[in-house]
Amino acid sequence: MMFEGLSEKFQNVFSGMRKKGKLDESDIKVANREIKLALLEADVNFKVVKSFTKSVSERAKGEEVLKSLTPGQQYIKVVNEEMVKMLGGEDQKLEISKDKLNIFMMIGLQGAGKTTTAAKIANLLRKEASLSPLLVAADVYRPAAIEQLKILGKELNIPVYFDDASQNPVEIAKKAKEIATEKGHDLVIIDTAGRLQIDETLMQELSDIDQSIQPTEKLLVVDGMTGQESVNVSKTFDDKLGITGVVLTKLDGDTRGGAALSVAYTTQKPIVFIGTGEKLSDIESFYPDRMASRILGMGDVLSLIDKAQNMVDEEEARRMEEKIRNASFDLNDFLDQLHQLQKMGSISSLLEMMPGVNKKALAGLDMAATEKQMKRTEAIIFSMTPEEREKPDIINGSRRKRIANGSGTSVADVNRLLKGFEQSRKMMKQMGNMGKRKRGRMKLP
Ligand code: GDP
Repeated sequence: MMFEGLSEKFQNVFSGMRKKGKLDESDIKVANREIKLALLEADVNFKVVKSFTKSVSERAKGEEVLKSLTPGQQYIKVVNEEMVKMLGGEDQKLEISKDKLNIFMMIGLQGAGKTTTAAKIANLLRKEASLSPLLVAADVYRPAAIEQLKILGKELNIPVYFDDASQNPVEIAKKAKEIATEKGHDLVIIDTAGRLQIDETLMQELSDIDQSIQPTEKLLVVDGMTGQESVNVSKTFDDKLGITGVVLTKLDGDTRGGAALSVAYTTQKPIVFIGTGEKLSDIESFYPDRMASRILGMGDVLSLIDKAQNMVDEEEARRMEEKIRNASFDLNDFLDQLHQLQKMGSISSLLEMMPGVNKKALAGLDMAATEKQMKRTEAIIFSMTPEEREKPDIINGSRRKRIANGSGTSVADVNRLLKGFEQSRKMMKQMGNMGKRKRGRMKLP
């Protein structure tokens, strides 16, 4: 699958973020660095990576993330939004209309997939936009290319215009336009010549075709398997011809793909289609938001995050149960639980919402004190090192003093918390063992 490695890395960064209740600037810094490395490794252009991580980092340091109740989720949301931007932002539609003659000119290096893609697009738009396509073979230097287009046209039952006798692509394109009008086609797709590398003659020829038939779309076909060179090539084609859109091919391969993704950003032109295989049906319209979700390794991130914000995390609850069972519950988990409670709103307002709760009885409970206690507990745990949170047993006298100072509490407060935690852990262990013994006994004959 494309971008598999990249997705995996994003997943790792995100799951690390989700585990933490609160984030500070150094957490963000670490995550940003990991994302930067992952993108570079996937061959995304370094300028694009730089601009991407800069935007993410600026937004992540702001109120939006650090001060939110669910900073991990907010961070993911920011990364997702910036990724969508990097891939072109809003959904980009082709300029097509049933009321005019749509003329697409396919541009690109030899072997990029122009001929195949021309046929794929003709087929797709015939089906999805009810257009009547005419394919045009204007690569006069390679008889094999003309032959290839003829075969594809036959396979799809789409007419192909060619002129074996002509060596003039401008004339061929002009003639094709006339014939399309005559025969009632509303889509003309011109397959132009490519070279192994860009040269002046090629550019001049493409520019001549462009001038003489005024295509409605100039689509640059970019091979997704080529590396950074594709960024330069795209830029050159765009500078000379003013492309209107990009088609990325061969994204089905075992490719890192990052270079191709950089093309949208460097040319500021939309990616309109992606090729995902050799078959003529292997083409997809490109949606920046869906591609971002795919790359980030998640289904629909935004609705997931919305859901997470609206309810207590079920997966989290399952994870806790597992931890209790094998007695690996530590202070980080304790903190997580505390945050879950906080997420649900203040305790008093929650209780007030419950039917059947006696308001008078509520008045007898000091809610403000309970909430204050929760804040204090949180502050104490925040003042511990990661190691201390994982292994509370190492917290000796001098550590307790340091933690009390750091959290603005007293050593007695820290002691109380640790004792309380130790007791609940013991209880959990017993509960876990009970479960085990019970199961064991049941297995006896
Ligand atoms: P052109 O020289 O630019 O016209 O390129 P072609 O259309 O002849 O394609 C070159 C090769 O790439 C052919 O073997 C195609 O089958 C193959 N190809 C094109 N698009 C894709 C794609 O999306 N996936 C895969 N796997 N191969 C493709």
